[in-house]
Amino acid sequence: MKISELLQKQEVTISCELFPPKKGSELEKAHEIVKEMARVKPSFMSVTYGASGGISEHTVDLANEVQNVNGVMALAHLTCASSGKDKIQEVLRELKERHIENILALRGDIPEHAEFPLPNQYHHASELMEEIKNFGNFCIGGACYPEGHPEAESLEADIDNLKRKVEAGCEFLTTQMFFDNNILYNFLYRTLKRGIEVPVIAGIMPVTNAKQIQRITSLSGTILPQRFRAIVERFADYPAALKQAGIAYATDQIIDLIANGVNHVHIYTMNKPDVAAAIFQNLSEIYHLPN
Ligand code: FAD
Repeated sequence: MKISELLQKQEVTISCELFPPKKGSELEKAHEIVKEMARVKPSFMSVTYGASGGISEHTVDLANEVQNVNGVMALAHLTCASSGKDKIQEVLRELKERHIENILALRGDIPEHAEFPLPNQYHHASELMEEIKNFGNFCIGGACYPEGHPEAESLEADIDNLKRKVEAGCEFLTTQMFFDNNILYNFLYRTLKRGIEVPVIAGIMPVTNAKQIQRITSLSGTILPQRFRAIVERFADYPAALKQAGIAYATDQIIDLIANGVNHVHIYTMNKPDVAAAIFQNLSEIYHLPN
């Protein structure tokens, strides 16, 4: 099934995210994580590609495990910063062979000091989307940034680029994490005003350990509301308490989104089935509600 069809149904959807292991020897453990994550029955599971300097070799394998072994729709990420055009063609063929129909097409982060784009690389996600569209019969998603992408000249320029992605074949957008829902509501208003009408899936990051906090605070421009800061300050040195508070904060954000008509939520579960299970349990009556 294509995610675009799922998002057209009048239902709340909640999806999860996985990242592949860096070493092939850890694949078995990753398969176990997929199995545990599948138990919460997410609407779909996405598998990252070359994120945070990681490698891209196991994305197709893990997406296959999600969909063809565990019966959950898979969304395979694909980036053009970490793969040349030949490699992209190869991955598209592999996905097609495994009947994986959904791709989140991204540029990816450019490694420091790297020459980019090389002659055999696409420059922007929109170019990769065109390539995937030409390949045929994939549902294509893309990334969006409620607070603006850090490299964009302005919020308006960033929205113009989003419009370009939609024109290139992007059928849905998933947001970067945000910790204040008003930022998303404001962004949705601006996208609609620009004529972007594809469904937007809200990306929620449950902050459950101190390492994540360091990463988030280093993200330029991310607004951290006082309520979030208070949790970090009070619980940072108490891992179990921080985890509980992070799950509650993410749950609250999701309930507010769904109450306000944002019916599609993607949780950055970061390979933590227990965190996914706790949030899905908190939302057991809300998940699957009609619109
Ligand atoms: P683009 O859409 O190409 O945009 C990048 C920048 O270029 C933006 O500033 C944009 O405004 C600008 N731009 C775009 N088109 C044009 C144009 N035609 N002319 C001028 N400027 C333009 N990274 C990974 O490595 N692997 C992953 O699996 C991964 N998954 C992600 C999932 C989500 C939901 C999100 C939000 C991000 C993910 N990322 C991942 C991170 C992402 O790759 C980075 O944020 C990257 O810096 C931008 O990717 P993009 O696809 O948004 O790029």
